[in-house]
Amino acid sequence: MPESIQSRLKRVQDRIKTVALSSGRDPKTVKLVAVSKTVPLDPIRAAIKAGVTVLGENYVQEAREKIEALKGEKISWHFIGHLQSNKAKYAVKLFDLIHSVDSLKLARELNKRANALDKVQKILIQVNISAEATKSGIDTEGVVDLVRQIAPLENLAICGLMTMPPYFNAPDKVRPYFRALRSLQVLIRDKAIPHVDMTELSMGMTGDFEVAIEEGATLVRIGTAIFGERR
Ligand SMILES: *Cc1c(COP(=O)(O)O)cnc(C)c1O
Repeated sequence: MPESIQSRLKRVQDRIKTVALSSGRDPKTVKLVAVSKTVPLDPIRAAIKAGVTVLGENYVQEAREKIEALKGEKISWHFIGHLQSNKAKYAVKLFDLIHSVDSLKLARELNKRANALDKVQKILIQVNISAEATKSGIDTEGVVDLVRQIAPLENLAICGLMTMPPYFNAPDKVRPYFRALRSLQVLIRDKAIPHVDMTELSMGMTGDFEVAIEEGATLVRIGTAIFGERR
């Protein structure tokens, strides 16, 4: 029999706790975002029953259906995928935190849509820390300017940074990228830009979340280790 969602989740939570403690951090400062893209409702319900409180989705339409189906549940929904400006309207309706803002154009659209809903939308700035051409995110050199441009938008609240490093089988190879995001966080925090909060660092997935926590992650986005391989 395949391992239950409940026991997979428990193992992930235990690993988060262990690595947080061994790196001198309070485990409560690391939040688990259970990534449920392509996962059907039943396993998601099982995860909620087992204690998941934050779900991460990559596709607006898919998330919309799930959020509707699960609206009785106390879940915070996060958007972690690439967001097109024409989906901004739905994104601000559906998500508590959008991890993937990487352009002023997208930020302006989100701000406009959030204003119409009388909402302050929490966002993270997605950084393309490895400068790969195929990845989303703003290049490291452009981050400070982008943060300064977004900061005055009244219906957005910048809460931190997010990255997706290149995939390596050896988790230790991603450490420099996580460390670089952390340095960028400190650099921006030191500039004390009004209305900018740099608390959150969204980094680490199934293959590398322990290294990410050692390097300061406050949000880890974990799918496979909880739900199994995606179809
Ligand atoms: C799919 C996805 C994850 C989760 O990846 P796993 O390796 O399954 O844990 C995390 N972050 C983003 C942005 C994703 O698209």
